[in-house]
This record gives sequence, structure tokens and C-alpha cells, in this order.
Amino acid sequence: MVRHRNGNARADLAHPSPGASLSQLMLTREENVELHIREMDEGAVRLESAPLSLQVEPTSICNLHCTICGREAWDSTKNPPGEMPPWVIDAVTPILPSVSELLVGGYAEATLSKTMWPLLKAALDAGCPSRLISNGTRLDQAMCERLLRTGLKFLVISADGATETTMRKIRGVGLEETLAGFTEIHRAADRLNMPPPICNLSFVATRSNVHELPALIDLAADRGVSEIFVGHFKIYREELHDESLFHDVDLGKRHFDAARKRAESRGVVLKLPRFDRRNSDCLMPFQMLFVKWNGKVLACCSAVFENDHYSLAAGDLSKESIMDIWNNTVMLNYRRAVREGGELPKMCRNCAFRHDTLEAHTRLL
Ligand code: SF4
Ligand code: SF4
Repeated sequence: MVRHRNGNARADLAHPSPGASLSQLMLTREENVELHIREMDEGAVRLESAPLSLQVEPTSICNLHCTICGREAWDSTKNPPGEMPPWVIDAVTPILPSVSELLVGGYAEATLSKTMWPLLKAALDAGCPSRLISNGTRLDQAMCERLLRTGLKFLVISADGATETTMRKIRGVGLEETLAGFTEIHRAADRLNMPPPICNLSFVATRSNVHELPALIDLAADRGVSEIFVGHFKIYREELHDESLFHDVDLGKRHFDAARKRAESRGVVLKLPRFDRRNSDCLMPFQMLFVKWNGKVLACCSAVFENDHYSLAAGDLSKESIMDIWNNTVMLNYRRAVREGGELPKMCRNCAFRHDTLEAHTRLL
């Protein structure tokens, strides 16, 4: 039986005894994974295991205006600039000893936030591996050294082209300026005699940039990147509709094939999106929570900003603890619907995380 660190049966966690802090009752990461696997095998909907991963955005501010980003179309009244207050970090800290990974970032640039540092420190103190998602533009020597001292395990930089022209057109910044973060973090690691984080690159594929993916794989491999995640472009604005690869699947497949070969030859792991998924189960609400800068919590990482159609709101840390949200009605209803084949929440029925179709990837705001 998986047991608490203090030796009590794990079932007590839903009702911590007065005076016992939640952090005392959390499982180790290994115990949590073990319990999660068992609960999934048993078809549980109320999960006594904690989320396997937690994504937290310390700020909603960004220094770029990428054309492909939901920020360029979102309702700015509902999505004001904001910085995570310390109480939100306090609210997520108790589960970090059980969580397998803390992802830091959202539809924003986390390095602009002062709160990112205490958040990373909380992960370090809990022994929780952290992954920073960044646009790369602020990763100078001082920033890289500080990140290494927080024990950063993974660094993900987003780049959507292999040429200056494409990068400037999509992201409004230069290619070298973006990729330099990989070089800088390795230099800083050498200087501090510390291991560098595992470096990953994220690429959003469109009809205009997909042909540059093989060349970007080379540039990334030259800079120590070991893994590249490619995602389908989500259409937040009508004027970018034609950019979707779902308008020309053959084009996408052709360049993905070339990219696959290039990645193999360079020893880079390449994760490509598919074109053929329909009605697949989304297991995110069994595995993770997304915490917004203001303490609002989502059940998944779909459209992580205020909107009425594309994300599943789960709760608010100012009203419920994170473990209470993890097993609240929203989460249980979703899990039950997946387990029993019931009706999913409206935003899930045609979600891009369940279907590879033009319709599902069209998210007009
Ligand atoms: S850097 Fe990221 S969050 Fe900022 S505008 Fe670009 S895609 Fe959006
Ligand atoms: S189907 Fe989509 S909206 Fe629903 S939980 Fe999964 S990612 Fe979130």
C-alpha cells in the first residue's frame, strides 16, 4: 500500500487531520506516480494521487506580439496584465513534493515576472523538476546563471522559423536573438560548472513556415537542443485562417517527413502532430492542472486565458485548496464522462486536443 510519509494510509489525504499540514501528507513523486497508475487502472474518478504535473503562469505579460498567438485576439478587458501574488505560490507549494514536473509559463513571458523566482525556488526546495517555457529573448548571461541556480531541469524556447524573414514576420524578433538562449545557458553552465538544463524547442507549424522545419532542426541541434515539439497552428483570427496546415495536409505531411529524416540524422527527438485523430480521449484532467497568475485554475492547458469557449475552468485558489479543486465537481464530472462515455463539457466536444481537424483548430475569439 502506498503510504503517507508519516505512515498514515493515503486515503486520509482528502480529510487532513486538524494541525497536519497538507505538505506533511503528500506522497513522494515515486509514490504519487505509482498511485496514479493504479488509480487509472482501476478506473478511478476521484484521484487520491496528486496531479502528475502542474503548469503555472507567473505573469500574463509578454514582450512580443506573435501573429499566431491567442493574445493578439483575446479580450484584453478579460485578460489584463497581471503578476502572480505570493499567496498563489503558497497555495501550490504544498503539492510540489508529489508533482513530477512544474511547468512555468503560459500565454506570456515568464522571465518578465519577479514571481517566477520564488516559484522556481519552491520547486527546487520540494525537489520538483522545473521546466521553463520562454520566447528566448531575455536569456542573457545573468538570467541564465540565475536560472541554473534554481536547478532548472528543462528549458523550452519557442521559434517558428529558420530564417530571419520568417521569424520577424511571425514573432517580430530575430532568429539569432531567439536561439541565443540555448547557447547562453550552456555557456553559463560551463562557467558555473553545473549541468545545463535539457533544452527543447517548440515550433508552431503553418503553411508559410513548415518548409523551414528541417533547417530549424539543424540550427537547434547545433545549439544543444535534444527535443523539438511541433504543434498545429490554432486559428484565433479569421485573417490567418489560410495559414492552417489542415488546408493542405499533403504539404504538411511532406515537410514533416523531411523533418523526421533530418531529426533522425541529427539525433534529435521530434514530436510531430497528427492529422488523423478523431474523438480521442483527453486525459489532461486526470494528470495536470493549470494555475493562472491570479489563482484561477484550469483543468487542462487548452487556451489558458479568459474566454468562453475553449478551456475548462476548474476553480479558484482563493476559494478552494488545490487538492480540493483537483477532486471538485468540475473535475469529477469530466473524468466520469470520459470513464463512462457520458457527455463531455461543451468546450471539450470539439477540442483541438481531441480532434485533428480544421474545425477543432479554429478558435476564433
Ligand atoms: S512570446 Fe509566446 S506568449 Fe508572447 S506573444 Fe509570442 S506566442 Fe504569445
Ligand atoms: S478536451 Fe480540451 S478543453 Fe476539454 S479538458 Fe481536454 S484539453 Fe481541456
